[in-house]
Amino acid sequence: MIRTGIGYDIHRFGANRRLVLGGIEIDSDRGLVGHSDADVVLHALADALLGAAALGDIGHLFPPSDPALVGIDSRIILRAAAKQIRAEGFEISNVDLTVIAERPRIAPHIAAMRTVIATELQLPERAIGIKATTNEQLGSIGREEGIAALAIATIYDPRMMERA
Ligand code: MG
Repeated sequence: MIRTGIGYDIHRFGANRRLVLGGIEIDSDRGLVGHSDADVVLHALADALLGAAALGDIGHLFPPSDPALVGIDSRIILRAAAKQIRAEGFEISNVDLTVIAERPRIAPHIAAMRTVIATELQLPERAIGIKATTNEQLGSIGREEGIAALAIATIYDPRMMERA
């Protein structure tokens, strides 16, 4: 009756792009490149939610080949993922995220990201965990080539809980 899902995403930095993480636009000299607004945090989270319900991934929901989706606000993707799992009868218990970035510093933006995610998922903020870490200058993230995010989501079926 309790199910978990995992999500991971990574996007590379590129010129002339906004930096959007967790639904928050962050002041930065570089942004992440992607078909959408390249919000790795919300992409990892949407995949974790869909994964918990075994509903595939966001590429399935929002095909990167669809020109109508260029520059799409990833809050729309997250909202759609939550709607899909609720349509299957699931409720969300909590989610937890780790943002992996060498720079900019993520910590000052965590509170705002939590508020956005809690609002989009219609959950209390205490159900949203967000941490940030660097990659200790190792590998591509360590060389500041991009930003990655990990997510886990726990969902449950209230109908099964009643029966238990
Ligand atoms: Mg992505």
